[in-house]
Formats: sequence, C-alpha cells, structure tokens
Amino acid sequence: ADVLLEVRDVVKHYPVRRGVVVQRTVGSVQAVDGVSLALRRGRTLGLVGESGSGKSTLARLLVGVEKPTAGQILLEGTDVTRMDRTARRALRQKVQMIFQDPYTSLNPRMSVGEIVGEAFELHPASAPAGSRQAAVQELLELVGLDPDHVHRYPHQFSGGQRQRIGIARALAVRPSVLVCDEPVSALDVSVQGQVINLLRRLQRELGLSYLFIAHDLAVVRHIAHEVSVMYLGRVVETGPRAGVYGSPRHPYTRALMSAVPLPDPTLRGRRDEIVLEGDVPSPSSPPSGCRFHTRCWWAGRQTADGSVPAPCRGEDPRLTGDGDHLSACHFPVAGPTGAGGAADGLR
Ligand code: SF4
Ligand code: MG
Repeated sequence: ADVLLEVRDVVKHYPVRRGVVVQRTVGSVQAVDGVSLALRRGRTLGLVGESGSGKSTLARLLVGVEKPTAGQILLEGTDVTRMDRTARRALRQKVQMIFQDPYTSLNPRMSVGEIVGEAFELHPASAPAGSRQAAVQELLELVGLDPDHVHRYPHQFSGGQRQRIGIARALAVRPSVLVCDEPVSALDVSVQGQVINLLRRLQRELGLSYLFIAHDLAVVRHIAHEVSVMYLGRVVETGPRAGVYGSPRHPYTRALMSAVPLPDPTLRGRRDEIVLEGDVPSPSSPPSGCRFHTRCWWAGRQTADGSVPAPCRGEDPRLTGDGDHLSACHFPVAGPTGAGGAADGLR
C-alpha cells in the first residue's frame, strides 16, 4: 500500500521558562525528538507508549493544532508544515481526530445533529446546505446509531455510543486519515471491542487510514497492521504487527508485552513478568546514551557484574534491523516471544 501520511524526523520542543517578573528560558522539554513514521493507505499504524512518551504531542502535530520545531509532515507528498493557512486548512480536513474521552469532547448543550452538522459549517463543501439533515442521519446510521436520535443530547447516550458520535463527527468532512488518541481507553472492556470492530468496518468500507494511539499493546493488537513503540519522544521499535508481537527486539517492547494479559490461561506462568522500575524520566533532561538505560531490565544481563554496559550509557542507539522491523537497542533481544521468552503467548 502506498504512503499517505509521512512524518520525517519530526521534533517538538517546548521551552521551559522560569521567573516571576522576567521570564527566562532555562531549558526545553523534548516531547518528540526525531520521530519518523509512515502511514499507508487503508492501513492502521498502532502507536504505543506510556504517558509522557510523546504520542499525544505527535497526534496534535498530525492534525495541525501544533507546529513541529523541526522536520516534515507530508500528506500525499506535500509538506503541510510549510503551507499557507488556506491550503493547510483544506488539507487538515483530510486528517481528523478521535479523542480519548467521548464525555468531554462533545458539547453537552448541542444535539447530536448539531455536533455532527457543525463540521459542515467549517467545511461547507462536504455537504450541500439543503441536504445536511439527511447527511447527518446517514452518518449516524453509518456508525451504528439510530438516525432518529438526531435531536438527542450527549447525556442521553452511553459511553460507547458517544464515541460513535465522535467518529460520525470526524467522518462528516470525508477525511482520509483518522488520528485516534486512545479512543477506547475510557470505555468498558465489553464496549471496547464493539468500537474497534466499528473502526475496522469503516476502514474496509471507506478505505480510511488510522493512526491508533494506545498506552498498551493489548488493544493495538486487534487493529494495527504496523506498530511503532515510543519511549521518551523517540520510536524505539517499529515493524509489521507479526514481527513486533512475535519477536519484539527492544527490551521496552518486551516489558510492555509482559504487561498484556494472556488470552490463554494455560500460558500463564510460562512468561517472565518484566516489571519496569520507576517512572518515565523527565523529557526535559532525558538520560544520556540510550534513554531507556535507567529502567532497562536487559542491559544488566549483558555484563558479568550486572552493571549497565558503557554503550547503553554513552551512545544513543539508532533504529536498525533487517527489512522493515527495526529497533533502537545496542543489544536487541533475539528469539520468539514463546519458550521462556519475555512475552510468550502473543501472536
Ligand atoms: Fe537496554 Fe542498552 Fe538496549 Fe538501551 S541499548 S534498551 S539500555 S540494552
Ligand atoms: Mg496521552
């Protein structure tokens, strides 16, 4: 499949200012620090990482509410960061966002018809003025809601239904890309599957591309074709789903994998639990060398005395590998996730 949206070496730094009367810049938060991604037409790229990894910042850059400090964001080959406002607005229509919390992202004082129809006011070309009511009803039907409920208000719907309203609103302007920022994290597990299935059906029927953001690997597994794992503003592993889940190479990916509940209870106990010590370090002063070295469970196993090897402390690992499965680690973990490996039971 061809590349629809491409992120090239994107950096987003926020200045850190101090001072009551005179504000001085004393440093910067490196929220996203040299990330490259390629989203292909009709496919889903899963983006996984703990909070503070930079994935939500990346989402905001992709939908254009923030501008990158450096790097390029190419939509169908055109760099959106270098376009004038009008052209950028037209392009931005093609990249819509679905938010984590369907409770707070819908205006409680607007009816569903007004919420979904509002998109037509911002982008009038997406539905002719006389046909907007019908267009809204068509969208509600498309996402599995009753078109007769167009006059109801958000509080009259369940959490899963509200997320469907959010999806209908995003689809109103006929996007080609949906950036889904933790779209099911706030929903009950039973409802999560329904929303995932809806997104999959819409992808098939409308040829949509998704950037699907999540904090764990469990949900992404059911929807992503490719997976990228982020840690402290960087992609540490990326590749096709089968490779990343079947034989994760980065110790951080293996740790995230070990936190995923096993679908098959007979596999429990055959898996090493990897518990990551401590919190994600501050992105305003990331660790030297490999950013993961302060929490890496694998590094100490590379030396006789259990100390962190010099390259891990001193050299920033690049993304390398064979084919399209890449990882940024000086000592990539080998082998499948089964047979006593760190993350067996997933395929
Ligand atoms: Fe761990 Fe070293 Fe690999 Fe970083 S480079 S993930 S510290 S083993
Ligand atoms: Mg977030």
